Formats: sequence, structure tokens, C-alpha cells
Amino acid sequence: GDQTQQQPEDVPINVFIRVRPLLQHDHDAGSYSLVEVQDQRLIHVTHPTIRWAGGRIATKTYDADGIYPDTASSDDVYNGMNITREITQVLHEHGRELSILAYGQTGTGKTFTTTAIEERVASEAFDHAMPDYVVNITLSILEIRGSASYDLLSEPALQPVKISAASGKAQYQGLSVHDVASKEALLNLVQKGKSLRLTRSTSKNDTSSRSHSIVSIKICQRREGFPDLVSAINIVDLAGSERSSIIANNSPERVKESIDTNKSLAALKECIRARLSNRHSHIPWRSDKLTMALKGAFDEKKTSNKLLVIACISPSVLDIEDSLNTLKYVTPFQ
Ligand code: ADP
Ligand code: MG
Repeated sequence: GDQTQQQPEDVPINVFIRVRPLLQHDHDAGSYSLVEVQDQRLIHVTHPTIRWAGGRIATKTYDADGIYPDTASSDDVYNGMNITREITQVLHEHGRELSILAYGQTGTGKTFTTTAIEERVASEAFDHAMPDYVVNITLSILEIRGSASYDLLSEPALQPVKISAASGKAQYQGLSVHDVASKEALLNLVQKGKSLRLTRSTSKNDTSSRSHSIVSIKICQRREGFPDLVSAINIVDLAGSERSSIIANNSPERVKESIDTNKSLAALKECIRARLSNRHSHIPWRSDKLTMALKGAFDEKKTSNKLLVIACISPSVLDIEDSLNTLKYVTPFQ
């Protein structure tokens, strides 16, 4: 469609795809790859069972703003996504917000990828600040699990957070905000919050990955005689997108949590679709806590705000249905 005619800088959402390598458990299961990446722009996925008439193998091709094969490093991904340029722009414009989302099935590299992104963002947020400005950076980490939300940095841990939409933005009640004076301080806190999420999840029957975590970095720059520059960067490690986990092995609360999580991923999809479509369509960001928290990315008035989506997929024949669902999710018009 028209999207492909535009330069990546001009559109509010850029979509990237990262393919993880086959892991030991894939090899142990005798699995193999069905995915081929061409020129960092196209991905060909061969369906293992479907054959077109005449016995031809069914291959589906998708394109994106950048596609990274299993040989790509996290630095390749970071550079390909142009995150340094986005951060520089965020730091130079008051009110500007950058959101980076990792989407995909559990076990495909969302945490692997967002952790690497957070490391570089932490240094660049300090290093690329405006010259002659005093920089103050704060951090909050929110976990959305089913229809509930928690503070991953509160004392005591995991205090509930209330999210609502009022006067055109997301409001948080009970989300702690932490000053960070250095890259190291920022990364320490991010690690603390994320390890809390991980412990919690593994102790609960490994529905672990069925929660979203949102790392929000706020940057305030001050200089005497100039207006303050306040901007933000959100890095979101989304809940696993697999569908099977609803039915599997679970208590009524787990099942409800899983249904709510799927609802939030569906609400996110609607917002992405609306934002990607060239029409000036209404963006339903109020429909879910997750999309409320990402309001900045879905604000029709703030056209300079940017959303970078990185879809993570497994190349394995055993994960083919989830991989195709992920590719479809992030390329709704292909
Ligand atoms: P998710 O957060 O999507 O559930 P993880 O980030 O935990 O997935 O990754 C699952 C496993 O795959 C981890 O052991 C991780 O180290 C490994 N992994 C993911 N992506 C890569 C990659 N690009 N290269 C090497 N190992 C990877
Ligand atoms: Mg994870």
C-alpha cells in the first residue's frame, strides 16, 4: 500500500522483525528452520504442511522496515532500528515520546532483545542530552498482568497501580518514580524490576511470560532562560502472544488472566492498525490499560511521537503457527 512509498522517518510506526536462532531444545526435538531472510527487508516462511494445488510448497513473504536473521547481533538490531537517531530527536523536542515494543510468542527473544536495547538506551539517554542543559532522569516500571497492574519498583514490592484515562492522558495512581543519576543506576533498577517479574512468573507455573512490563524513562532537561524540555522513552516487553496457553493446565484465575492478556494484545493490534492506516481514523487507546499506558504512541495530535515494534519469532517448524500469527499481527495490511 501507500505505506511502502514513505520513508521510515515519516511514518509514526516502524515495524521490525527478529528471528532467533534454533536453540538446543529445537535441535533435541529434531526441528529445523522454515524461515529465510532476504536483504534485511523480506522474510519468506514456508508452511510445512500446506501445499498449493499441484503440490507446490506454500511460502508466504512479508516485508518490514528491517528484518534480522538469527545471525544478527543485538547491536545490528539496535542500529537497524535507528534507535540512536530516535533518542536524539526525543531529547531535542519538548513533549516528544518514543515507545519501543517487543511482540511475540514466549521463548522467541523479547526479553533478550529488550534487555540489550535498555542497555544502550540507558547510556544514550545521558550521552545525547542537550549541551548546556542540566539533565534529570527518572524511571518507573509497570507490570500489567491480566486486568491488574503492579509497580515493579515499589517498597514493599508489587504494590497495585491504578491506571485510568483522564483529560486525554493516562493517569497512574501508586506508581513510584525513581531518580537515576547515572547509566549504571538506571540499569541497576531496570534489572531489579525485571528480575522481580521473572521470579514471580516462574514460581507460578510458568505463565511467567503472560504479563507486560513497561520501562518508562522520563528525561527532563533544564537550562536557565530556556523552557524545560521534558520527553520520554518507553520500552515494553509484551506478554507472550501464543494462544495455546489459555487452554493449558490452569486454574480459573490463570485462565481469566490469560483471556485478559489476549484482550489487551487485541486492543493493541487495533491501535496499531488505526495508527498505520493513512486515514485519520479514531485510535481506541482508551479500550485497555496497556494501550492507555502507550497513549503517547497513539496520540493523533502528537505526530512526532514514534512507535518502534520489534516482532520476535522462532524459525522452528514446531512454532510455525505462532510465527505466522506474529508476522500477521505486525503487518496487518500485507
Ligand atoms: P521471551 O522473552 O520472548 O520469552 P527470551 O528473551 O527469554 O524469550 O529468549 C528465550 C531464549 O532464547 C533465551 O534462552 C535466550 O537467551 C535465547 N535467545 C533469544 N534470542 C536469541 C538470539 N537472538 N540469539 C541467541 N539466543 C537467543
Ligand atoms: Mg520474556
